[in-house]
Amino acid sequence: MHPDPWGTLYIVATPIGNLADMSPRAVDVLHSVEIIACEDTRHSKKLLDHYHIKSPTMTYHDHSDRQSADKILDRLDRGDSVALISDAGTPLISDPGYRLVAEARKRGLNVIPIPGSCALVSALSVSGLATDRFSFIGFLPAKSSARKSVLQARQSANETLVCYEAPHRIVETLADAVAVLGGQREAFIAREISKKFETYSRATLFELHAMVSDDSFQQRGEMVLVIAASPPSPGVITADAERILQLLVGELSPSKAASLAAKITGLDKRALYQRAIETSPPTSP
Ligand code: SAM
Repeated sequence: MHPDPWGTLYIVATPIGNLADMSPRAVDVLHSVEIIACEDTRHSKKLLDHYHIKSPTMTYHDHSDRQSADKILDRLDRGDSVALISDAGTPLISDPGYRLVAEARKRGLNVIPIPGSCALVSALSVSGLATDRFSFIGFLPAKSSARKSVLQARQSANETLVCYEAPHRIVETLADAVAVLGGQREAFIAREISKKFETYSRATLFELHAMVSDDSFQQRGEMVLVIAASPPSPGVITADAERILQLLVGELSPSKAASLAAKITGLDKRALYQRAIETSPPTSP
């Protein structure tokens, strides 16, 4: 691989547990670049040694001295290629890199992703909860009051919620989630994804809280918490349902429009019919 005349910043995903999840392309890029910027050079040594990667490394952290960011950007300006990796998974996803990528983009430099593992996507993909719309909020606040406020703000959101959680806080967080969102809300915990003792638990928030409280094993390791979207209450017409209904009302009788909209959205047919009557165009005499 030849360096681009303007240099390329590669954002390289690395495994979140199982080293075999490293893609061959990621290995090639790490071999070829002039320098690898790591969140922690000592931590990444294990991965680099495993793949016999000898490219020089340096530390990069968004909050470290400006010098390391400038050093990387200068090298890119000179035509060198640089790879950014974090301790695990995709850089910038609750990991360093945002400032560097933002500055590289400002300077018009090439920034290329080398896709791979990401804990949030892995957890969501096996949760069995809706994946068409979700919010990823990184780590919830450490303090219970702040955590509850974040959950309250999303209490009636029509999207799955995904967050990272520290093992020593998972019991408190589940208790807060039960208090704010209700114990009956479906949720999912993906623990130690791709590692030897991985576990996946799907239940209501109440049940998950009881299960994790009773089992200290479940309070260890790395974990992602996925919480189901707010169930639509009967009679409530979501924005999506309203859009579908209005399209149908333009073409069909209120009763047919409501019946079809109920089949498409799973919402209450009577509420949709009521809304269809209110909004259907007047019929000519
Ligand atoms: N950049 C990473 C990514 O792409 O997923 C995330 C880094 S963030 C600092 C670390 C958090 O990600 C952990 O506290 C945990 O919530 C989640 N995580 C990372 N690896 C995981 C794994 N193997 N299983 C479950 N969660 C994991």
